[in-house]
Amino acid sequence: TSTEAGTDVADATQVLRRVFGYDSFRGEQQAIIEHVVAGGDALVLMPTGGGKSLCYQIPALVRPGVGVVVSPLIALMQDQVDALTAAGVRAGFLNSTQLPYERQLVESLFLAGELDLLYLAPERLRLESTMRLLDRGRVSLFAIDEAHCVSQWGHDFRPDYLGLSDLHERWPDVPRIALTATATEATHTEIATRLNLTEARHFVASFDRPNIQYRIVGKNDPKRQLLDLLGTEHKGDAGIVYCLSRASVDKTAEFLSANGFEAVPYHAGLDAGTRARNQARFLREDGLIVVATIAFGMGIDKPDVRFVAHLDLPKSVEGYYQETGRAGRDGLPSTAWLAYGLQDVVQQRKMIDTSEGDDAHRRKLGQHLNAMLALCETVECRRVQLLKYFGQQGQPCGNCDTCLNPAESWDGTVAAQKLLSAVYRLKRERNQKFGAGQVVDILLGKKTAKIIEHDHDALTVFGIGADLREQEWRAVVRQLLAQGLLAVEGDYGTLVLTEASGQVLSRQREVLLRREPERPVSKSSQAKA
Ligand code: ADP
Ligand code: ZN
Repeated sequence: TSTEAGTDVADATQVLRRVFGYDSFRGEQQAIIEHVVAGGDALVLMPTGGGKSLCYQIPALVRPGVGVVVSPLIALMQDQVDALTAAGVRAGFLNSTQLPYERQLVESLFLAGELDLLYLAPERLRLESTMRLLDRGRVSLFAIDEAHCVSQWGHDFRPDYLGLSDLHERWPDVPRIALTATATEATHTEIATRLNLTEARHFVASFDRPNIQYRIVGKNDPKRQLLDLLGTEHKGDAGIVYCLSRASVDKTAEFLSANGFEAVPYHAGLDAGTRARNQARFLREDGLIVVATIAFGMGIDKPDVRFVAHLDLPKSVEGYYQETGRAGRDGLPSTAWLAYGLQDVVQQRKMIDTSEGDDAHRRKLGQHLNAMLALCETVECRRVQLLKYFGQQGQPCGNCDTCLNPAESWDGTVAAQKLLSAVYRLKRERNQKFGAGQVVDILLGKKTAKIIEHDHDALTVFGIGADLREQEWRAVVRQLLAQGLLAVEGDYGTLVLTEASGQVLSRQREVLLRREPERPVSKSSQAKA
């Protein structure tokens, strides 16, 4: 009845405040929670960081019985359970990393009804013994986290997820809520079908963050570019500056401090006390800048972060979205600014090549990087591209850098041919490989010491690229890398041809490139190094 529903809503809000310490629900959380508390099935698509966990944790606390959470992230279960326990929630997990007696303890807590949440790996839920255990206790709901793992076409397919389609048959009265952050329209429908969630209500959150202005610029003199941004647009604002390495975090924080900005570092190499202190200052103070590795941000909920700046290229669009998403939670205009250059591409390819894991894993990392590069090099609206990546549609926003300052595209076929043939000649005639710097110098016809030493001025390609400036050539290299028409390898980032390069050299394929819009470079601020 409606009175009961009313009580449930009050309960849910109380749990939100009392247990989790938040004032209000975010986005569609409340609607989702009400629906599940009332016993309905739900399919939730929400960006990472959007607050999916509460959507099943709160119903599990409000409904009688134990909420069973299926998650493939075994490595995170301990952390999740620790965080819940710290908040006073009775949580446990069952997975293969436990000793038998640890499992037995959790099982008896479950049977005694002394758990609110029980985390399970999908392969464990499929065991008949686990199902019998669940039969003997009382289950309040099933939450299926990372639900896209059921999609056979996705990157993260987990065969054990297919077995989850039987949950409904065995426990017809227990509501199910499936959640994911990565789903195109097609995977979304597939999830519903495969998990047998035909009656489920779909809650699709938009990935659009209209108050965030996305800007991606070429990296020339990153610290000074950052100083320009902060000095002209973000004086006295709180913000996060992300760097890839701990060393550059430390250096950048010092640099900003030396130039009159209040900035503190945050990375896993600092002792826990310093980290906690810097994080607490960021949350409490106005206008503090945190310079951090991506270790910073999980669970940070500061509404008035006015800018997120990346001095290095994020490894994936998901990461970029999540990190930039920490800006402007209060809905006020905020900036997401990224400086990226050739060196980022070289460095990340190298990291992928030398990463642990099998070829499939490396391929996946490569695909993530390519998607990120495509976002950087797009001539379309950044927001439209970003939404498209997450399977959503949007109109050109009129607020991102490509909308405000449209990048021209130009026919770069001839330039690409020149560059690729320089790489080809070096390999064919000299059996040599060089990095972008030397190849560009060859094209420009520069007689540097290194050119003379290697006798590169004798190559037929020497000086054939004098019609473009050095910076333009570097942009060409970057974009050919982004388009897969060129590749880098080895410790020194040497350039090599790809299969697709041949199509350009043989004129079977045209190359469209993005011309960086000319922007006046602000010379106002005087940087102290
Ligand atoms: P997701 O699983 O969608 O990636 P999480 O559930 O981990 O996101 O939530 C992301 C962060 O947002 C967490 O730190 C969480 O505590 C916080 N959060 C979630 N809901 C709220 C809310 N209603 N108010 C404030 N913070 C919230
Ligand atoms: Zn736009």
